[in-house]
Amino acid sequence: MPSRKFADGEVVMGRWPGSVLYYEVQVTSYDDAAHLYTVKYKDGTELALKESDIRSQSSFKHRKSQSSSSSPSRRSSSRSRSRSRSPGRPAKGRRRSASQSREHKEDKKKTIQETSLALPVFVLFKPSENNTKRYNGEPESTEKNATSCIILEQKLKPDLEIKRVLEQYSLRSRKDDKKKEEIYSEKKTFVAVKPIEKVPTKTKEMEFGGRIGTFMLILFLPATVLYLLLMCKQDDPSLLNVPPLPALESLWDWRVFGVILLWFFLQAAFYLLPIGKVVEGLPLSSGRKLQYRINGFYAFILTAAAIGVLLYFQFELHDLYDHLVQFAVSAAAFSLALSIYLYIRSLKAPEEELAPGGNSGYFIYDFFTGHELNPRIGSFDLKYFCELRPGLIGWVVINLAMLLAEMKIHNLSVPSLSMILVNSFQLLYVVDALWNEEAVLTTMDITHDGFGFMLAFGDLVWVPFVYSLQAFYLVGHPTTITWPVAAAITVLNCIGYYIFRSANSQKNNFRRNPADPKLANLKFIPTATGKGLLVTGWWGFVRHPNYLGDIIMALAWSLPCGFNHILPYFYVIYFICLLVHREARDEHHCKQKYGLAWERYCQRVPYRIFPYIY
Ligand code: NDP
Repeated sequence: MPSRKFADGEVVMGRWPGSVLYYEVQVTSYDDAAHLYTVKYKDGTELALKESDIRSQSSFKHRKSQSSSSSPSRRSSSRSRSRSRSPGRPAKGRRRSASQSREHKEDKKKTIQETSLALPVFVLFKPSENNTKRYNGEPESTEKNATSCIILEQKLKPDLEIKRVLEQYSLRSRKDDKKKEEIYSEKKTFVAVKPIEKVPTKTKEMEFGGRIGTFMLILFLPATVLYLLLMCKQDDPSLLNVPPLPALESLWDWRVFGVILLWFFLQAAFYLLPIGKVVEGLPLSSGRKLQYRINGFYAFILTAAAIGVLLYFQFELHDLYDHLVQFAVSAAAFSLALSIYLYIRSLKAPEEELAPGGNSGYFIYDFFTGHELNPRIGSFDLKYFCELRPGLIGWVVINLAMLLAEMKIHNLSVPSLSMILVNSFQLLYVVDALWNEEAVLTTMDITHDGFGFMLAFGDLVWVPFVYSLQAFYLVGHPTTITWPVAAAITVLNCIGYYIFRSANSQKNNFRRNPADPKLANLKFIPTATGKGLLVTGWWGFVRHPNYLGDIIMALAWSLPCGFNHILPYFYVIYFICLLVHREARDEHHCKQKYGLAWERYCQRVPYRIFPYIY
């Protein structure tokens, strides 16, 4: 028996993952071990497909892409006409004036132009919303193809389901019954396909410089935290004035480690409280949606009350200033232990619970990136919990401790204006994140990245101890600013916050409910996956407006520290590097997910983060 059916270079029909659409593709290679073909679509998208997702061209009755029913552009236009799919349409019952109607027609025409995929499509009915969303939640379609197809076949079995799908997408408007028959017969072909064995998916493209890069990062990140904190404690924190290495025993205190444990478990207890609503996350590769309790803001209020009580009883929170390095070392040790636990449990995690990355087979790489997407102990979601609570709330507590330390050390009755600004801006950022906790469920961290050292260290050490650097700096290096300067910095922070918040909310609302009437004025490019890409509003301004707002805020947090040293600007410099790299990663994922539609989006919105610059 031949091990493969299709040869390299052969032009065949390949199924678009998560759908029953077939496009003309060219086989570029075959992976013997994984039994996967790498195929190239006409728009340049490369995916790995199972043999069962590939058909010879002769097995299809070719319908030209221009034909009335099978053109993707027609599909898109019918979709854009459907109210439920088009936020551009006015609410039902609202009358439209002639000019509005003309405008609308033009918009529709534009959308149609934007959405024509220039690819011949061969089986024309759309996946159900669930299927679409499930696929969409998986940026690495290459890796998830096997699973998605099995589920699709199961879902397609009942005829009723087919009918529902057809109704949902108004495909009944296709009057030609014969075409319907073709659709049904195609469905039968799918049902007949045997279930496919799960193929362990290997991470092919390694990020962060691969094994060497991640090994260096595992050493470099903790060393940087230590270096920054030690530098900040010096009278002269200039870059060339390298701090002496402290004695090892001075870095460790079991009582401090105990406080870190107490803090983590206190926040875990708050997380488990049955207060706050429970929402569903985006669909996983299996189509399942996990439930998340939204009570981060309550956890913050409870923490604030607990700190208030401690301060009332004269608890010396300002002592944190003297022990900050020890706290950072203990938090790093804890995050290392957590990462080891996460790595071990990921080895046994079921295939459908794994992130697309983190399975390179190289211990260092997989340990760093993490492999399990949503590690949970019962209903306790470790990644979601760490993402916003212990680190983010811890950051605010450290800032407060620095404010008290400044007052104590410099014998002030009120904190300095610089310290007030830094504390207030960062408090706003944290409160905003907790208030809008639900929005974290659509971020890359939750939907794409595994939970490993990178996120554990980032959430539990980097965020609380590096992001509080400005407040830490101000205790040892008092900086006076005038009221007009303070007002100007405040305006800058507000501008950054406004861009950041409205961009994130716009995308989050659009992803959760594209038919939201509040988004009716926004235009979008539909994609083959069923999700749209906003091309007006903030997401038509630059491709990552939320990053732009975040960077503006980062600058506003550093400016109150004056210009004597570059150290307090570490955050904004690092943050620009982080977000430029993150943007490149996201760009890569989106190109894979959306192919030509993403290229169209990039043409429409040429700048990534900074308008007219980058
Ligand atoms: P984003 O929230 O920017 O999400 C990127 C995703 O948005 C893409 O993968 C795509 O996903 C979707 N998308 C892209 N373009 C469009 C469009 N035109 N229309 C609709 N959807 C689009 O990613 P992050 O998770 O990186 O950032 C979330 C927030 O967290 C940002 O504000 C960022 O600044 C902040 N952040 C803060 C950090 C910190 O340390 N303070 C660190 C990292 C991030 P899909 O199509 O699959 O929905």
